Amino acid sequence: MVGAPEFIVILVVLYALECFVKLGPQDLVFQARLTSRYRLQKPCLYPGNGNWGWLFLNPFRPTSMAFCSPQATFVLAEDGVLVRQSGELVFIHYKDCAEVLSRGGQIQIGLHYRFSPPAFEDALRSARDIAALAALNPAERRLWINAKIEKSLNGGLLQDRIDAFWSATRKLRTVASANCVGAFLLFPISVWFAGLRAAIIPAAIIAIVLSAATAALSARVWDQFYGDRPSAEKWMLIGKMVLYPVSALRPIEPLSLPLLIEWHPVALAHHLCDRLRARRFIGTILAGLLYDNAAGEAGQPASTTLLKYCAIEIAALTRFLENNGLGIEELTRPPEPSNSSCKTYCPKCMVQYVYLSGFCADCGHIALRPLKDCGSDRTTQPKRR
Ligand SMILES: [Zn+2]
Repeated sequence: MVGAPEFIVILVVLYALECFVKLGPQDLVFQARLTSRYRLQKPCLYPGNGNWGWLFLNPFRPTSMAFCSPQATFVLAEDGVLVRQSGELVFIHYKDCAEVLSRGGQIQIGLHYRFSPPAFEDALRSARDIAALAALNPAERRLWINAKIEKSLNGGLLQDRIDAFWSATRKLRTVASANCVGAFLLFPISVWFAGLRAAIIPAAIIAIVLSAATAALSARVWDQFYGDRPSAEKWMLIGKMVLYPVSALRPIEPLSLPLLIEWHPVALAHHLCDRLRARRFIGTILAGLLYDNAAGEAGQPASTTLLKYCAIEIAALTRFLENNGLGIEELTRPPEPSNSSCKTYCPKCMVQYVYLSGFCADCGHIALRPLKDCGSDRTTQPKRR
């Protein structure tokens, strides 16, 4: 027979488990910070690789928001679609995109290409977009791509969406807070004074009522914000809250995770992160883009297509950064050595290395460049043994 202390420990452990969110290897995470409603603590570009895809959310703020933005599997460019598949860039010309289907979370282009994007919704949206682009001519495609990038950088719309979500979830947050107070304050107090046997039945009834209310309110918020997403996702979330009341203690985080997936990571970082972290993050994204743009070899269809896409994205980002008082040179200059043992850095992902030369472990074929002062170090001073 489980006693009162054990029962409460089990409840706390189950609650802590609810703070783990599983992420795909491609997901970009914006985690809510302790002291604020939805400002972000840190943008985490690759929280997971093949081995690690879990994020621990703040257990003390059950009503905070957390955003996740899957990195697009598909680059929809002017001449065709580029797909990253295990490090390789696959090019599919739009003339081969006459038939685009999405089924079971997969997307099939013509007879030959079948891909699994990180999210079901990503497959649906990409299939819609690829079909729309295949019907246009190159000039119209350029306009379409530019408009899409511009929209994803619109900070005003981003703030409106966050504010709308925050006001739409007012009742839900009240119920979730009441639920937490009941579970972690009132329930232990009544167990202390009345004993587990007397307290458990009324506590269970209250928990079921609050979970049902949370589920009903969550369904309404889902319909308002994610009406175009597959309804299976909604029913999985709602069903979990009804059948497993512990999950109803934290309804805001799962509801807010997909809220900003249509925004560009640069806009998210600029508007939602603190200044220093945002700058570092935007610098890394820009360095990657500029590197791809400079290193692409024209001639190969995939490289030419990527170059054209990078040019549109860089132009849009440059306008965005200028409008927001950020200089592109300042953001992308070589990093300061993080400590004296760092000698080189990767020009694409900006990670620093202690080796004097070599290739970036994350980016593969990219040669490391010397950090400031290290170049002269190497020539004027013999290496000490
Ligand atoms: Zn790298």
